[in-house]
Amino acid sequence: MMATETAPDEVDLSIGEPDQPLPGVLVEAAVASLRAGRTGYTPKLGLSDLRALVAEDVEAGTGFRPDPADVVITVGGTGAVAVALAATCAPGGAAVVPDPAWPNYRVLADRLGIAVLPYRQGPSGDAFADLDAVEAGLRAGARLVVVNSPSNPTGAVASSAALRDVVALAREHDAFVLSDEAYEAVVFAGGRAPSPLADGGHDRTLAARTFSKTWSMTGLRVGALVAPPALREAVAALHGTTAGCAPVTAQLVAAEALRSLPGRGAELAAVYRARSERAVRLLGPWAPQEPVAALGGFYLWVDARRTGRTSAELVAALRGHGVVTSAGTVYTAQDGYVRLALTAPDDVLDAALATTRRTLDALAAEAPAPR
Ligand code: PMP
Repeated sequence: MMATETAPDEVDLSIGEPDQPLPGVLVEAAVASLRAGRTGYTPKLGLSDLRALVAEDVEAGTGFRPDPADVVITVGGTGAVAVALAATCAPGGAAVVPDPAWPNYRVLADRLGIAVLPYRQGPSGDAFADLDAVEAGLRAGARLVVVNSPSNPTGAVASSAALRDVVALAREHDAFVLSDEAYEAVVFAGGRAPSPLADGGHDRTLAARTFSKTWSMTGLRVGALVAPPALREAVAALHGTTAGCAPVTAQLVAAEALRSLPGRGAELAAVYRARSERAVRLLGPWAPQEPVAALGGFYLWVDARRTGRTSAELVAALRGHGVVTSAGTVYTAQDGYVRLALTAPDDVLDAALATTRRTLDALAAEAPAPR
């Protein structure tokens, strides 16, 4: 997915990496930590200060305060998701996963011999998860239900009620919920995304967090997993044996981020909301149908099926005009979609979006009439 090199005259809208630089105060924290000689291992489960700060931050966002003993500092959200999947599902087991979705859930489950039972990723609000499909997956023996709000790739944000319903189903079937909260601070309506940790759901919920997106720290590789006490040993064993510990520099920077820039998510949300609104105007008929105010995250999910082209053909056509996008088939088996990451400076982004519209309009004009 990230194998392509972008030429200097191309605009890369294919990767979910904020274009805002690492804030200066965090640069200073990284440099100071190195000068102080902080280059050794940390405790396997993370620096205790950082675990406590994450517990406080979770409480600020959800009302539920985890015991810091149940907060593990991971190698990004990627590490948190991987540990959560392996801690809850055994080879031969099954997990219920949204479609479309970030590909890691499916790819890792395949590798671990865990069957993936999809549910349709719905819009923002109460219809966020297709509960009938979730229940069918649980009846078929799934031990885990994955939810990702705001969604990569659609931007949909679950309501609290939608998440309560998912937790209730998981509880009924003695399963767990993995809430991938990578974009939880980037909510266009303001505030933070609802979490299944709230409303008494914490004994069933594993929440995967990351510093990557909110604080522009994608390459520093630090996140956190909040898990129920019942999974404490499994989580510690899997994280300890696969990661050792998260990078110490990144952990020290993460602690500084929570201490000195707690409002950074709200700032990013304002930037990405404004970009999304402009993108909707520039894309015209190719923009998603949902109102921007209901969405969150960094992406626009473009339904280009009426061009009659495959996702690969759409990506190639856009690339021919200098716009690098991500094929919809990375996220779903359904062909004819592309994902745009709104992670370029405003003027560059506007030009790329105008090009995207012209290219899709031209392809649609060439498409054979539907039979
Ligand atoms: N979850 C989702 C939905 C994501 O989109 C990403 C990154 N693209 C991650 C988790 C993990 O990011 P990281 O490992 O950098 O924290």
